[in-house]
Amino acid sequence: MIRRLRYAWAFLFGSSRWVEPVFHLSSNLAWIVGVPAFTLWRHVYVERGIAPAGLIAHETEHVWQYARLGVVRFLPLYWFYQIRDGYDYNPLEIEAQNAARKAVRSKP
Ligand SMILES: [Zn+2]
Repeated sequence: MIRRLRYAWAFLFGSSRWVEPVFHLSSNLAWIVGVPAFTLWRHVYVERGIAPAGLIAHETEHVWQYARLGVVRFLPLYWFYQIRDGYDYNPLEIEAQNAARKAVRSKP
């Protein structure tokens, strides 16, 4: 019971605990939404069966953002930035783009 409450709390309001990202490759959901990939809390939906390192790092960064902020704060904040700044200047997207660049740079 306590575990479920803690899990629900982390989902809604965030937590400093480790959250395991779950990747759904060849996702119909991503195909329907019409994007190469998108993230909902710890679930990453990727349109194709394989994804480049940069894309994985980008979406994983969104998982950390969700984990940190919780769904209740992440989603309004994301859309607030999206409307105010646009995709390219959305601070949550900039953070994800930086993670992607770092991953691609450190690729052997
Ligand atoms: Zn993104």
